[in-house]
Amino acid sequence: MRQGRAKDLLALTRVGRPSKRLHYLVKGFNSLKVPHATKTHFGKLCGLHYSCAGKTICFMEVGKLFLIGAGPGDAELLTVKAARVLGECDVVLYDRLTTPEVLALARPDAQLIYVGKHDGEQEREQARIFALILQHAKAGRSVARLKGGDPLVFGRGAEEWELALENGIPVELIPGLSSAIAVPGLAGIPLTFREVSRSFAVVTGHWKTGTNMDWTPYARVDTLVILMGTKQRVLIATSLIEAGRAASEPVAFVEQGSMVEQRVVETDLGTVAKGQVEVNGPAVMVVGEVVRQRKILTEPRL
Ligand code: SAH
Repeated sequence: MRQGRAKDLLALTRVGRPSKRLHYLVKGFNSLKVPHATKTHFGKLCGLHYSCAGKTICFMEVGKLFLIGAGPGDAELLTVKAARVLGECDVVLYDRLTTPEVLALARPDAQLIYVGKHDGEQEREQARIFALILQHAKAGRSVARLKGGDPLVFGRGAEEWELALENGIPVELIPGLSSAIAVPGLAGIPLTFREVSRSFAVVTGHWKTGTNMDWTPYARVDTLVILMGTKQRVLIATSLIEAGRAASEPVAFVEQGSMVEQRVVETDLGTVAKGQVEVNGPAVMVVGEVVRQRKILTEPRL
């Protein structure tokens, strides 16, 4: 945290709706909210002193953490709010799934920091992310934590949210379009369909090596969407068959959803279990009868 100066305050007005959300930590007070900051307030605050409860107090400025959902990859699939806030933040923390088109929406002078995680170093990288959020927000900067899809779907966004709050940093969530729903849809696979699928579940295909999950509950869901499941696809398919799903059940892998490189592999559970399906890179795996709708929705007629 640093003492506020006129320049910093004006910088803050670019983010969010400052008239409602300005938040200052005030020396000697836990926090002082200025709910309707007007130019007059700025005038007073810029003088570094604020009159409160008969005392003249000095104020400190804190930054803010924006947890921003970047959607599946196509920059046009960001929400209007995500695009606006991304264009206003001082610092952007982004990871492996962030596309250059999305990053291009950041403010030209924003500091862009890559925080991608690779196998085996997740915990170390997460600790670095926590440290970067604290370092920049405490220095009064607005931090955009950009996450693929929705920040709260397998993204550890809630942990970053909690950490910021514990450290007195305000947080705003900007939800994103999760790949779990958007990517199958873009490939012509609706997760629900009248008389075919009344429910869907989203499950992670990533767990501790050498162990397995209990797949029984997922054998009963109409449509099963598996994220981060490409590497373990053989074990997943085998486990689902053992748990009661039919080997003939259709399966689709959608790679690079929403991007020009999007590729769809259609197959069935039995073939995946035999290790006969090639998939490259991150993909959304969909298991269920709805996969058959793809033919109807993507093949031109007439
Ligand atoms: N928070 C993200 C999910 C993070 S887990 C969300 O809501 O979408 C990362 C996994 O998401 C990847 O391993 C892959 O299974 C899936 N994924 C994300 N973007 C994708 C895309 N464009 N195409 C295919 N799969 C994608």
